Amino acid sequence: MVKVFKFGGASVKDADSVRNVAAILRKHSPGKLVVIVSAMGKTTNALEKVLNAWYESDERLPAFIQDIISYHQVIITELFPDSKHPVHFKTDMLFGELEGHLDTPPALHYDFDYDQVVSFGELISTTIISELLISEGFNCQWFDVRELLRTDDSWREGKVDWDLTGSQIREQVSSFLESAEGQPAIALTQGFMGAAADGFTTTLGREGSDYTAAIFAYALNADEMVIWKDVPGLLNADPKYFSVTQKLASISYREAIELAYYGATVIHPKTIKPLQNKDIPLRIKSFVDPLSEGTLIHQNTSADSLIPSFIFKVNQVLISISPRDFSFIDEQSLSEILAVFADNSIHISLMQNSAISFSVCVDNNERRLSQLFKALGKDYKVRYNTGLELITIRHYDQATIDRVLLEDGKTVLLEMRSRLTAQFVVK
Ligand code: ASP
Ligand code: MG
Repeated sequence: MVKVFKFGGASVKDADSVRNVAAILRKHSPGKLVVIVSAMGKTTNALEKVLNAWYESDERLPAFIQDIISYHQVIITELFPDSKHPVHFKTDMLFGELEGHLDTPPALHYDFDYDQVVSFGELISTTIISELLISEGFNCQWFDVRELLRTDDSWREGKVDWDLTGSQIREQVSSFLESAEGQPAIALTQGFMGAAADGFTTTLGREGSDYTAAIFAYALNADEMVIWKDVPGLLNADPKYFSVTQKLASISYREAIELAYYGATVIHPKTIKPLQNKDIPLRIKSFVDPLSEGTLIHQNTSADSLIPSFIFKVNQVLISISPRDFSFIDEQSLSEILAVFADNSIHISLMQNSAISFSVCVDNNERRLSQLFKALGKDYKVRYNTGLELITIRHYDQATIDRVLLEDGKTVLLEMRSRLTAQFVVK
């Protein structure tokens, strides 16, 4: 019986939470366990800030790096008061590597540099956590995920080479887990990152550690995967935006993938497919209240429509694109336009067209959007509105729509309804 557990940033944000992870592993881990860990707390955001300062030759760069180092050092000293413990040497090496990297000029391929820098968060967190588990007597082995998870060189959204990844994981991780025979064993590794064929680090996209866990579950034919969160399970709305939320006790893979696709941030959208393909149940459980049931995501669709779900995506941009020569938006122009989106790695969350205009809603990624506007500008007139929200309501009825839209007096700029889903781009 192999299970895969994933612990996100919030579950390892300070020394107490790391100890709580160890306590959960002590109580809930089966014989053989793979543990995937994210960067601690908000480290990934902090590393993005470092990367941008590096790019912009911002004089605050050393201070930003120091913030990250100090944050981790507080946790390390609290967990390992003995200054001779090997964790100090190991993490100092990593901090030194990060500083050394940032001491040289960037390669000036932003997405490539991103992966080389931002991935340090996971290397540091897993080093600290594996040392803690070992010092607490767990049979734990730290793996460098770059030797297991192979992707192509699509920086910041590496596409997984499933065959090679599967065989590397089975070769190295299974052989460790099996060598433990009847004893408990924990294979611990980094979420979010992998490596391209040339050995350079890639990442799988923000919040990608869930996906990493699913990749391991798939490769190992795991019996179950658990994502440990700071919420009681999958909720029908984000508590950040809604005061009243309900937990979904069980939903289907299909429903989960729809919710994640529309922007529910509890699970990374790519997580479900590998699990569905092998019928591996996914549980979302609370690390604050590990005995509570959480949410079960599985094949069964019978409970899907019981509760409407609301998904808010903020910082959206509505773009409308019209041919300069007043020709129709036809299949030919649509495929040209969509190719420009694909070339610039811009994901469309909603699209709609009329005779001479094509409208899409996307996340606001300024760097990529300015390239897109440049590429489209020759043949198309492009207009856009920023600072919008995309609201998606699954299993809607008019009353829930009215409640969401009218309560805050929102102006609807674009609306789309299918049988199960209503979407609104609002201001
Ligand atoms: N640390 C990465 C992020 O914050 C990956 C993850 O947490 O899943 O996006
Ligand atoms: Mg996270």
